[in-house]
Amino acid sequence: MADKIYRQLCETMAKRGGIYPGMDIPEFYNLVEELFTPEEAAVYIAIPQGYSPPAAIAGNIGKKEEDVVKILEEMAYKGLCTAGRMGDTTFYGAPPFVPGIFEFQFMRGTSTEKDIRIAKLIRSYKKAVDKTRGIMKITFPVNRVIPVTKTIKAENRIHTYHQVKTYIEKYDPIAVSTCFCRHEAKLVDPADDCGNPNEVCMQFGMGAQFVIDRKMGRKIDKEEALHILEISEEAGLVHAAINRQEIDFLCNCCSCHCMILKSALSQPKPGLALSSGFMPERNAELCTVCGTCIERCPADALTSGADEIPELNMDRCIGCAVCATGCPSEAVVMIERPGITVPPVDQKALKEAIKASRA
Ligand code: SF4
Ligand code: SF4
Repeated sequence: MADKIYRQLCETMAKRGGIYPGMDIPEFYNLVEELFTPEEAAVYIAIPQGYSPPAAIAGNIGKKEEDVVKILEEMAYKGLCTAGRMGDTTFYGAPPFVPGIFEFQFMRGTSTEKDIRIAKLIRSYKKAVDKTRGIMKITFPVNRVIPVTKTIKAENRIHTYHQVKTYIEKYDPIAVSTCFCRHEAKLVDPADDCGNPNEVCMQFGMGAQFVIDRKMGRKIDKEEALHILEISEEAGLVHAAINRQEIDFLCNCCSCHCMILKSALSQPKPGLALSSGFMPERNAELCTVCGTCIERCPADALTSGADEIPELNMDRCIGCAVCATGCPSEAVVMIERPGITVPPVDQKALKEAIKASRA
């Protein structure tokens, strides 16, 4: 019976998609048997696409609504489903592994025996999937980089969706949680620590309320959110979010651990798989050829050319502005990059763009 429910879970998670969808391999079953009880797996399968009220989920599974609410609440705490309040009703959703369940496992930043077990099982599932299907081809960017606004050249058009501060000003609540990618790495191998700040992943609005209620993150005010941006920029981290004009999370990513960056950087042309829509422009008169920008670039888009002058490879440049923020001579500004389409307005538009690119 338990075997059957986990097989059905695999089929459901294959349909839910994401970077690591369900795959019928032993590593999948090892992982989901640790994450889900058979009862929770059955409830996950019964949640329709999008958000649903508990009555609809209970109807799909033939159980009493109050019993299903109890299971859903435990699942939400374990990061196996999402939840959001609209009026007096809490609606529940069944996210894919990524983005969703994997991230929720490590946002609290705890290091219990169970956390370590889950991190190792997730790592071995990701490795097995990568080996079985190869590198996943990105046909349309699922995520985007948001440039550091202060580095954008004055005469450029700066839309609100190009500015992280827009979201900080607009949303309440805002939450911060531990970077799940860096924390997962440390759980698997305590020596795997790049030294970057950890408590820097932000959520906005309904997503923030979800992580605050389930203690996966803490509520912060706008001043602290701005401070987190500052320390992330100083450390050379990349602001990354979903490729929509409306965003509900903002990661501050390193290229050594971040799933978003690593997946984009493994593409033949990372600059087309993940971009801010901007590119750096170097002022040769101000540049002292110190090489700092080459060292800081997370995408290996800069190399040392003739006379050690930095040379830009546009195929690799993701437009993050880490070169500009680190330049001691203020010789780099960001300018608009031609040929990059504006981010889709919302989730529906993003899904349609991905579907069209695959067709
Ligand atoms: S960091 Fe600035 S000054 Fe140094 S090489 Fe790069 S552009 Fe030139
Ligand atoms: S050159 Fe490197 S650091 Fe500069 S914007 Fe491009 S990817 Fe970012």
